[in-house]
Amino acid sequence: MNRIFADLHIHLGRTESNLPVKITAARNMTFHHVVQEASGNKGLSMIGIIDAHSPPVQEEIQAGITQGIYQEHPNGGIIYQNTVCLLGVEVECREPNTGPFHMLAYFPTLEAIKQFTAWLQLHMKNVQLSTQRLYQPVLAFMKKVKSLQGLVVPAHIFTPFKSLYGSATTSIRNLLDISLLDAVELGLSADTYMADQISELATLPFLTNSDAHSLPKIGREYNEFLVEEPSFQEFTHVLKQKRDRKIVANYGLNPRLGKYYQTFCLVCELQKEKAKQTCPACGSIKEVTGVKDRIAMIKDQPSTSPNNRPSYIHQIPLDFIPKVGNKTISKLISHFGSEMNILHHAPIEEIAKVTNETLANYIDRARKNNLIVEKGGGGTYGKVISSPVTRRLSCQEYH
Ligand SMILES: [Zn+2]
Ligand SMILES: [Zn+2]
Repeated sequence: MNRIFADLHIHLGRTESNLPVKITAARNMTFHHVVQEASGNKGLSMIGIIDAHSPPVQEEIQAGITQGIYQEHPNGGIIYQNTVCLLGVEVECREPNTGPFHMLAYFPTLEAIKQFTAWLQLHMKNVQLSTQRLYQPVLAFMKKVKSLQGLVVPAHIFTPFKSLYGSATTSIRNLLDISLLDAVELGLSADTYMADQISELATLPFLTNSDAHSLPKIGREYNEFLVEEPSFQEFTHVLKQKRDRKIVANYGLNPRLGKYYQTFCLVCELQKEKAKQTCPACGSIKEVTGVKDRIAMIKDQPSTSPNNRPSYIHQIPLDFIPKVGNKTISKLISHFGSEMNILHHAPIEEIAKVTNETLANYIDRARKNNLIVEKGGGGTYGKVISSPVTRRLSCQEYH
C-alpha cells in the first residue's frame, strides 16, 4: 500500500470561458489550473474539487475526458497525470432556528454529480455558483447524496457564522443523525486536540483540508492516507478503515494561525482573551467568538482521542514563513519538486544552499514545531513572528 497526500476542499474561481463559479476565489482557479497545480507544484495525489456541481465545470471535465486530457478512474474520480480528483460540492444549509452551516459532499463519478446537480437545480437559485443556499432540510440533502453513493462531510465545523458548531448548534445530534456522516472537516482554526473535547465526535474521522480560494493556498492543510491507489473507492475505505486503509496523519495549520482562533471585539477590533465578556478596552459585547472559546463553551470532556485517531501535525505552509515570497517559493519548488517535499523531506542543508541559512532555519523549526506564532482572530490570520529565539512551545501554549 501507499502513503499519499490529499487536500479535499479546493474551490474554483472561474470556468475556462470566464464564467463565475466562486466570486471570492481567484480568477485563475479553473478546473484545469487547479489539477495542474495540485499534481505539479503541490505534489498532492488526491484532491477534492468542491465546485464540480457547476454545470459549465462539468462540461469542461467532459470535454477533457473526450480529448484524452483526463480519464475517469474505474474506481471513481478523475485522473490527471499523477493526481486523482474527487468531484465535490459545498452547500449552505439552514434548519429552523439555526444560522447557516456548510456541508460538503463527494461523488464517485461525473454522472453521479450531474444527477446531483439536477436535484440541486430544483432547490437553489443559481446552481452555477459555489456554496449557495440550499432550500431543503439537511436530511433531504444527505439522503440525496447517499442515494447516489456519495459521502457527506460537514465543512469547517467550528468556524463562526458558517458551520454546524459555529452558528447552528451545540450538539450535532440536535440536528441530524451522526451515523449518516462520513467524516467532519476541522477547519483552519482547530486541531484534533481541540475537537476531541467533544465526545460525540469520537466515532467520526477528522479531515484537514485547505478550503483554498487561490492556487498558493492549495495544500495549506491536508491529510495523509494509506491506500492501494488514489481513487474515490479507496477514500471511502479510508473513512471506514476498511481493509487496513486509514488516515495516517492530519497536517494542519497551527490553529493559532487560523483567522478565527481568538475572540475578536467588533467595535475596537482587538482580540479578547475570553468570549461573552464585555471588551476590557471599549466595554462592548459585540464580538466574533473565536474557535478556541466556542469549543470551550460546548466541550463535554477533557481532550480524549479514540485509539484510532491519527496524529495531528502542526505545519507552517511556506507562505506563512517570514520573508518568503513567491519568488523564493518558485525557486524552492523548481529545486525540490513540490511544496510537500520542501516542508517534510528536503534536507535542511540543501535548502540553505538553494536559499539561505535563515530560511532553512525557519523550515527546520517549522518541522520541529518551535516557531513562535501570534494568534489570529476576527478574520485575520495569525503570524509567525520573525524572532531568532529558538524554544519549544509547550502544548499548553498552543491552546
Ligand atoms: Zn464553507
Ligand atoms: Zn469552502
